[in-house]
Amino acid sequence: MTGTLKAIMAQTICCPCGTPIDCDHVELVITATCPRCDRELPLELDHSFGARRAMLTIMEGPHWVGEQFIMPVGAALSIGRASGNWLCLDAADIADTHCRLTLAASGAVIVEDLNSPAGTWIGPQRIVRGHLAPTGSLRVGPFRFRFDIQTPEGRIVAPDGRDQSDSELSLPTMASVKRKNSPAQWAARNRFILARWIILTLASIGGADFTLHLRARPPAPWNWNKALIAGALVWLITSFAGRHVTLIHNYLKYASLGLTVALALVGLSFGAGAFATASLCAAAGLVVLIMREPQPWLAFGGALIGAFGLIVLTRDLTQLIRIISSGG
Ligand SMILES: [Zn+2]
Repeated sequence: MTGTLKAIMAQTICCPCGTPIDCDHVELVITATCPRCDRELPLELDHSFGARRAMLTIMEGPHWVGEQFIMPVGAALSIGRASGNWLCLDAADIADTHCRLTLAASGAVIVEDLNSPAGTWIGPQRIVRGHLAPTGSLRVGPFRFRFDIQTPEGRIVAPDGRDQSDSELSLPTMASVKRKNSPAQWAARNRFILARWIILTLASIGGADFTLHLRARPPAPWNWNKALIAGALVWLITSFAGRHVTLIHNYLKYASLGLTVALALVGLSFGAGAFATASLCAAAGLVVLIMREPQPWLAFGGALIGAFGLIVLTRDLTQLIRIISSGG
């Protein structure tokens, strides 16, 4: 049950300055660095009971139902309508700066109302300053949040320290979450995972095709099987050691963009128009991939253009390797 819900619920890290922090393998990140204010945000609570995080989940509201926000430790986290808040919620009955949450390393959360006209509520009580306990609910305008202490794998820990089963929690129904997070939004949010699967599929098809056609030819000095094994190894390492390779992964994103632009320039200088166009298409797809919050239609268009560019590039490069390996 937890697994399926986690697949739909996206986990987001926001800096107290309001900047969303984009990182792969969110479940493995211990501290995140804000790209705007360079602030280092600790995300894990005291280690005395193992790795745990404080999480605010939107249970009800006009949008983002099911979205989970990982709370940074020790910072003042403001919620309000104006930009620059930790969570910027644009809805009626929410003040520009509505309330402020502070999370201690022990997991204790203090909520302060900042003179909001509609008020801040913990459970059934309107508060000026209050303590939000794990599994407790917080209401800000039309939004209702649930506060949890979770393990990085998504297991929810009850206030007394033991694991809690999902049946004890009033999670939003799957139907309501699915309705409010459209497939386009899901695709835009999970674009890195999608891009990896597309690249892996293309590489597999290319590798299989090349291997099948290679049987009739003399063995090449370089073959796709080795490339596929190397690719699978990189895939496994980045999947399981994400906590340590997030930084390298970020550099790789920009390195591949630089490579595609360089290929386009090479193509242009040698008068290979189709090759240059394909490289530019792949570069355009990568730009959309790297963007922090692309519009769903832009993400979809970028994915199409990028996939087209990659297919043409793979074909051209395969032909080039064939020509080189057959001795000119
Ligand atoms: Zn920041």
